[in-house]
Amino acid sequence: MSIFQRLFLTILFLSLFFPGTNNLLARQDKQDHASHGSNEGKHVSWHWGGRKDDCFKCNDNMRQRQSPIGISTTEKGPLESINFYYYPTPLKIINNGYTIQIKYGSGSYITVGNTRYELMQFHFHHPCEHIINGQSYPMEAHLVHKAADGKLAVVGVLMKEGKGNDFIKTLWKYFPKEGENEVVSIGQKIDANQLLPANVINYYHYSGSLTTPPYSEIVNWFILKTPITISKVQADTFKSIFKKSARPIQPRHGRIVKENN
Ligand SMILES: [Zn+2]
Repeated sequence: MSIFQRLFLTILFLSLFFPGTNNLLARQDKQDHASHGSNEGKHVSWHWGGRKDDCFKCNDNMRQRQSPIGISTTEKGPLESINFYYYPTPLKIINNGYTIQIKYGSGSYITVGNTRYELMQFHFHHPCEHIINGQSYPMEAHLVHKAADGKLAVVGVLMKEGKGNDFIKTLWKYFPKEGENEVVSIGQKIDANQLLPANVINYYHYSGSLTTPPYSEIVNWFILKTPITISKVQADTFKSIFKKSARPIQPRHGRIVKENN
């Protein structure tokens, strides 16, 4: 009997006599898929080409505020400024197989109006998740913040192709290798300010959800209008490792997107 035949028979045996195995595996998979909102959890973005969106209720009456969305018609007017108080933190980077996520040390935050949101982590999507006036970008970064009441504020930074980005160059240098889950780089500090465009005044705002399970509708989205640039090589490097990590756009269901000039 060949090794393949033995393997096949072993799997057959396990499936027949231990039918719970698959459920256990599925449950573990779910547990690994923590959301934008968890500081400790892993962020999940799917390889959309090969994996089904398991948000069965997203388009029914239960779920009316899903993300991402396409942004075209907006309500123009003044919006409160986003004040950034980001400070350098030691680099802590995770490759969860879907994206890389950089955990941020405590003490960095934004304020919008009277609400303070702590920066917890940031991560990347390829291609971008929000489509602006029909335009897609090669990548989008999400800076995930959490308020004391549990509400999230995610600042989206669109990334267009252009000049190479020194901050991305540093991060990409520390891509965890295959088999490595986490890289903690003693001595390498990073500063999330470097991920922001020069103009953080102008943005789109709407109420939406996590773009990963459990798709909770607790996110204040702030999509900065000014993109930052990355080189084609930098985008391709991410793409070569994470083929597709963006959720398709969701119905707006009459939601208003606000925009300042
Ligand atoms: Zn995201």
